[in-house]
Parts: sequence; structure tokens; C-alpha cells
Amino acid sequence: MMAGKPDILDLTLEEIEQVAERSGQPAYRAKQIVKWLHKGVGHFDEMTDLPQSFRHSLYEQFRIGKIQILEKHRSKTGYATKYLFLLSDHNIIECVVIRYRYGNTLCLSTQVGCRMGCKFCASTIDGLVRSLSMGEMLGQVIEVNRDLEEAGERGIGHLVLMGSGEPLDNYKNTVEFMKMVHIPMGINMSCRNITLSTCGLVPRMIDLANEGLSVTLSVSLHAPNDKLRKLIMPVASAYSVADVINASRYYFENTGRRITFEYTLIKDFNDRKEHAEELAELIGGFPSHVNIIPVNEIEGLGFRRSPEKVIHRFIQVLESRGVVVTRRRELGFDIEGACGQLRRSFCSGQKKQHYER
Ligand code: SAH
Repeated sequence: MMAGKPDILDLTLEEIEQVAERSGQPAYRAKQIVKWLHKGVGHFDEMTDLPQSFRHSLYEQFRIGKIQILEKHRSKTGYATKYLFLLSDHNIIECVVIRYRYGNTLCLSTQVGCRMGCKFCASTIDGLVRSLSMGEMLGQVIEVNRDLEEAGERGIGHLVLMGSGEPLDNYKNTVEFMKMVHIPMGINMSCRNITLSTCGLVPRMIDLANEGLSVTLSVSLHAPNDKLRKLIMPVASAYSVADVINASRYYFENTGRRITFEYTLIKDFNDRKEHAEELAELIGGFPSHVNIIPVNEIEGLGFRRSPEKVIHRFIQVLESRGVVVTRRRELGFDIEGACGQLRRSFCSGQKKQHYER
């Protein structure tokens, strides 16, 4: 990371309160600071309800580590906009806004790259570069909100942690981030409007269930048994499908939040009628729903999308066994909206060199 002053966006509310206290300021100053930071101010001098001497002292101690929008691509349908961000160490991350009827959702990244190694996923191809700080996760929300506001659009109403990275592999920063966006003075996002997606890091799923944060948990299952799952997800060798289901149950019991199981349909791999039956058996009676994602074909990875007929049959089999099923709408297809694809095509192209010094 860039040397020099620490980024104030990496501090928790309690830590900012301590900073205020050390300057002889009341604790409520921390919430005022969060309010300004989440509005996207770039200088402490813009925090006009703070005493000038305190603003100066903040400036001496911290930087406001803003991340920069590098590129923006809107899908032809207009429903999705993908943002590429430049971080202070010249790494690049991506996130995408999806415009639903009920509001705007931001799908954000939690790491640069990923080390989970799922065979169908673009984020994982070059492995993990590093985890994002809390400030870099907040930065994605703050900058996109500012951009939407400038365009006269509604701000972000929902967050999904489904961009690049495994959020539970960056546990501390991700949890602090979710606590921070929850603060009413700032981004003010209800936990019910946050979805965290995990490939199934069982011990961390248990930890999250004990945090007292009722975010929606989305579990990337993608196969109804260990044998099949191990072929596409290395994490399946560490934790069995049964472990993942038990941890999901624990999460539900602790938080009261229904679990979403993600199932990426891959042609001639996990899309047979018997797989649907096995999946229904596995999660039958469990307060959950299944989200079917026809695989996004990524060049060089060799996974193909199931034909429409097969997708429909799979969904029907699940429904006929009482499973609640949704199918992911593919709103960002033409902007490489899925899972590390845009960063990848950007980074393998010429343009990257331009930003690397
Ligand atoms: N690491 C987390 C979140 C990031 S990916 C996780 O594994 O859940 C968000 C979702 O997109 C996951 O369900 C992931 O398996 C899925 N995904 C990744 N690449 C995909 C692709 N090429 N096609 C369809 N879904 C994909």
C-alpha cells in the first residue's frame, strides 16, 4: 500500500471516536466525520461543522484515501453499469451497478483477484493479489453513489458482495465494512439489504452467524454432492457439502435469515435431471431458495452454458419438489458483467501499462 499517512476510511467508528477524544473533542464528532466521508468529501476542510483546529489535526494525521473511477461501461440495455477503479497502489478492481425496479444494487469486490480457485470463475485465474481494506470497499459505494447522484439517479439501495474475491477470506475488513455501512449518519444501509456470497468457508460462516449482523447469506454450492463439487471448487476438498449445509443451517438459526444457494449450471456437468433431484433432496425442507445462474462462458476455461431447454427442465424438477427457485437475470452480459471479467480483459490489454508507473 501507499506509504505515508493512514487512510481515515480504514478506521472503525470506535477508532474515530478515540481520535476525537485524543483531540479533546466529544465522541459525536466521529459521526459527523463519517457523514462527510460517506458523502465523498476529498478534504477535511469540507467538514464544515467541525472546529477548524480539529480539521487541521485530522489532516496532519490522516489522508482520505479515495479510489478513482478509471472507466465506466453501461450495458446496451441500460440496466447495468460496470466501474473500474484504480487503487492507490495501482491495482485495479471492478464493481457493477444493477438497476432493478425496486432500486439500485451495487455488486462490489472484496479482494484484488481471489485464491479460491473455482474453475469456472475469471477472478481466480491469476490468484489473489491482495485483500481490500475497509476503506477501499467503502470507496466503491461512496464513489458510485456520487456518480449516480451527479447523473440525477437514485443512490445504492442494496449491496451484494459478489464481485471479485472471497469476502470471508477477508473476514475482518469485510465485517467492519458491513458494520460501517450500517451507521445511520453515513451510508445507512440496513443489514437486510446486504447480501454476502461465499464459496463456503465453513468456520468463517459460523463466525459470521455469531456477529449479530443479519445480512443475507448466499452460498455458492454449484453441485449437489462432494464428488462433483470437488471437480470445480478446490474449497470442496476442505469442507464437505454436508458441512456447508450444516453451517448454513446454523446461520439461519442464529439470524433468522433464509439462505440462498447459488447453483451455476454448466452444460453436461451438473445440469442433469438427477442432479436437480439430488439438490432438492439435499436442501428439502430447509428455509432457503436456489438461485440458478447459467454459467458465463469465459474464454479459455472451457465451460459451456446449458441449452435453454435443459435450464428449464432443471428448474422444473426443483419446483416440482417444492424448492423455491429464482433464475439470475443476466443484465450485464454485454459489459462482461460477471465475476472478474472486465478487470481481466482490461488488465490483459494495453491500457493497463498506462496506469502503471
Ligand atoms: N467468492 C464468493 C463471491 C464471488 S462470486 C463466492 O464464491 O460466492 C459470486 C458468484 O458468481 C458465485 O456464486 C460464483 O460461484 C459465481 N460465478 C463465478 N464465476 C461465474 C461464471 N463464470 N458464471 C456464473 N457464475 C459464476
